[in-house]
Amino acid sequence: MKRFGLLTFGAVIVATAILAVLGYVSLSRWGASAELLFREQARDMATMAAEKVEMAVLKSEEESVSGLVALVSEPGFRPEQILESVRAWRARAPLFDRVYVFDRQGTLLYPQELSGRDAPVFAALLAEISQGFWERGGRRHFAVVDQVILAAVIPETARGPVLLALGRNEAVLRREVLDKTFRALESKSLLALVDQSGRPVYASGTLAGAERLLTVPLGEALPAWRVALYQPEGAAPQDAMRRQRMLFLAAFALSLAVIALGLGATYRLVRRESEMARLKADFVANVSHDLKTPLSLIRMFAETLEMNRVPDEASRREYYGVITRESERLTRLIDNVLDFSRIEGGRQRYDLVLGSVEPLVHEVLEAFRYPLAQQGFKVDVEIAPDLPDVALDAPAMKQALANLVDNAIKYSGDRRRLRVTARRAGDRVLVEVADEGLGIPPAETQRIFEKFYRIGRSETQGRRGSGVGLALVKHIVEAHGGWVSVESRLGEGSRFTLHLPVGGPCRES
Ligand code: ADP
Repeated sequence: MKRFGLLTFGAVIVATAILAVLGYVSLSRWGASAELLFREQARDMATMAAEKVEMAVLKSEEESVSGLVALVSEPGFRPEQILESVRAWRARAPLFDRVYVFDRQGTLLYPQELSGRDAPVFAALLAEISQGFWERGGRRHFAVVDQVILAAVIPETARGPVLLALGRNEAVLRREVLDKTFRALESKSLLALVDQSGRPVYASGTLAGAERLLTVPLGEALPAWRVALYQPEGAAPQDAMRRQRMLFLAAFALSLAVIALGLGATYRLVRRESEMARLKADFVANVSHDLKTPLSLIRMFAETLEMNRVPDEASRREYYGVITRESERLTRLIDNVLDFSRIEGGRQRYDLVLGSVEPLVHEVLEAFRYPLAQQGFKVDVEIAPDLPDVALDAPAMKQALANLVDNAIKYSGDRRRLRVTARRAGDRVLVEVADEGLGIPPAETQRIFEKFYRIGRSETQGRRGSGVGLALVKHIVEAHGGWVSVESRLGEGSRFTLHLPVGGPCRES
């Protein structure tokens, strides 16, 4: 049984450990792949945003620039004409707020002069335009100083190759292009544009507390700028992972607790069951032995009488007396077992009739007169004179008292004293049976009322018993609406008290 229990326990522990390891490993794997997936998705999202922004900028520029290029490309183009046209163009294309037109020699054709802030920017631009670009023509973005300038070369005009250099209005770029594009993306992540030094120049939301996950480059329309993807606080995959891990740990701890509780409960149950099985086996052996003793006495004395081997009349009467007492003891034992089985089967009934406990006490002591006298017991009986009546099932109550007196005799030591008292205490009548015998260890004072329970074998060795006597006493007293208590000191003696309600139990009818 014990081995089986240990094996089961071990199996559960091993299964739990395997479960924990598997859970942890798969959680870690899940975490790693989730993070990878998350990063991939984030990169895709940023790349897509970069492409959209690029496309939007180019489209917007195309709309703004094509008219102007067409104008300059006209065969009869004269720089003097441009003033009027640019004015009209400006009203339509606010993305560019600065337009400069240069010829191949770098002479400014329009406007009259460069503004102070623009001078270094456009001078740098002119230096960057290669011979090939002048010849081929086309459109390109140049990052010069701290700006992006769109340069368009028209190789053949009335004034030879002409360079259109356009500077963007950043406020308009933000409002008209970036804002609209980012809003259309409807991304849950935070997106931002960062400049060459990594400083955010535009963001789709507030970046405070957010963590930058990655950046991807933008195309040539916004060279040196990058799209950065930020993760709002607490939304990073590591946070999700941490939450998942906590959840797993909590769930695991909970299941461990449940398993431990289940194991504990099962262990207790199994222990109780096996103890009960042992107690039952003891019970059968003890009862059989208990029955045998009075039977063999009865038989021995009866046979002696039958063979007429009794010397005198006094001995003959004594023999008859032994036979009567032993048959009474036998009856008591059998009654105990029968009542116990009736109680176990829920068939025991009690007939409560209002009466006095005094005659019951005397009757029980009378039944034990011989063994008490024979074993040299000093018996004190004290019944209070004003004892009120209680509702009694007389045979059952006598049986309960007899069991207590029987125990007092059985578990007596050297001091053979028995004290039986009955008195009133408030609304109860207390009947006490006290001895100065072996006493009961404090830890066992409650367990002795359990069925089959007997105190450790060494104490009860040589004192046979079925272990149901006190269980019966408890059941009987409770059926009377009362209870039984015990006070005991090991080696000094025990006092059992029956608490019975005056006038009987208050039952709801
Ligand atoms: P049993 O048939 O063993 O006497 P009981 O139910 O009457 O069964 O008592 C249970 C156990 O309680 C006994 O085995 C004994 O160890 C202990 N016990 C009962 N009465 C006394 C007593 N008066 N003094 C010491 N121990 C007692």
